[in-house]
Amino acid sequence: MKALIAGAGIGGLTTALAFDRLGMEAQVIERAPVLSEVGAGIQLSPNAMKVLNLLGLEHAIRAKAFEPEALEMRLGRSGHRLFRIPVGRQARHNWGAPYLHIHRSDLLEVLLAAVSRTDRVKLCLGRGVLGYETGLDEVSVYLDSGDRAVGDLLIGADGLHSTVRTQMLGPESPVFTGNLAWRAVVPTARLGALVPPPTACVWVGPNRHAVTYLLRQGELANFVGVVEAGLDGIESWTAPGSSAQALADFEGWSPVLETLIRKAGTLYRWPLFDRPDLPHWHDGRTVLLGDAAHPTLPFMAQGAAMAIEDSHVLAELCRDVGPSKAVAGLHKLRSKRTGRIRNASRANMKTFHRATALSRVATYGPMWVAGHVLPDMVRARQDWIYGHDVTSQGG
Ligand SMILES: Cc1cc2nc3c(=O)[nH]c(=O)nc-3n(C[C@H](O)[C@H](O)[C@H](O)COP(=O)(O)OP(=O)(O)OC[C@H]3O[C@@H](n4cnc5c(N)ncnc54)[C@H](O)[C@@H]3O)c2cc1C
Repeated sequence: MKALIAGAGIGGLTTALAFDRLGMEAQVIERAPVLSEVGAGIQLSPNAMKVLNLLGLEHAIRAKAFEPEALEMRLGRSGHRLFRIPVGRQARHNWGAPYLHIHRSDLLEVLLAAVSRTDRVKLCLGRGVLGYETGLDEVSVYLDSGDRAVGDLLIGADGLHSTVRTQMLGPESPVFTGNLAWRAVVPTARLGALVPPPTACVWVGPNRHAVTYLLRQGELANFVGVVEAGLDGIESWTAPGSSAQALADFEGWSPVLETLIRKAGTLYRWPLFDRPDLPHWHDGRTVLLGDAAHPTLPFMAQGAAMAIEDSHVLAELCRDVGPSKAVAGLHKLRSKRTGRIRNASRANMKTFHRATALSRVATYGPMWVAGHVLPDMVRARQDWIYGHDVTSQGG
């Protein structure tokens, strides 16, 4: 069995490793000539770590990661804590795997090192997938180099602007969410006493919110700030923004956030779009996975986790029922969960941005009470996200 995989992002590389674990071959075709990641962190929640552990990667990830003490929500201006869910050792106890934060380039390094240790995975860089053609027992993929690759199935792990999806379902029409996002990574040595808490912390406020967490054993702090505003720019992670604008957006917020913005070398800013649900993810011997199939707004930190879960499910399906049935089976097994995560992420956008004093009291008041009186209940509300285990329960 040989899988062709379009895209060497988190989804594509993890899928290649999941196929390799089950003794199947994979050829990963990546448009970029050199693999690199944007300067940003990523949260690897226990549901994703269970798959990465099965691939034998926990040790290598842990060595480069930061393990937060808790998941928290705070008021952006006062810094007052609404609730705190301990993770650290508790994450493994409650959800079966650790909760970790890692710099994206460190995660890429771990995945590439694992790919380099196996002969079953071939990585072709600097080759863009242009399209595919389904044959009786195979699929052919046409590359921008003029070459053709042939395999038993094609996996479109080519992200938000997927070429494979466009051929399968036509051009999509993303919908602007009315939110712009800032991001920066800042060495904690620059922050003095105002290093963000050693937690995954969501700071909420009227029409905006921020997320902070630490990376590389605490050497770096990751900042994401989301602000409701009009559309002004393109959907690109690498478009720089002005520090003065970011400071204005978070004026009067906790000094922790103001300091992060002031000390950031470069801040990036881009508009956030939402995508409609796709009716299916397959066509002949081709299937979509990760952001190509179900792009997820970043308000639950679950987009990559869904791609990682998909990778395991698809590899097991291929082993169990063969490629042509597996490509149809992925949507059946995964669309309910990925749809629920997408909807919950959309709902968080509203929860984090309560605009009026009354709506803030109505939303955050009960959260504060539950966080202080019934912390186990607050924790248990996360079980369906982090306790999910595709390695034991399939989709
Ligand atoms: C601000 C922000 C914060 C986030 N935080 C988190 C988080 O904490 N936790 C989490 O789980 N998720 C998070 N996410 C979501 C996560 O980043 C994505 O869901 C994840 O990266 C998707 O991986 P992917 O492999 O599907 O796609 P991508 O990472 O986009 O990879 C696609 C790859 O395909 C390549 N490609 C594209 N077209 C072609 C082609 N035609 N031919 C060949 N190659 C091609 C691209 O170059 C790229 O390498 C966040 C997202 C944002 C925006």
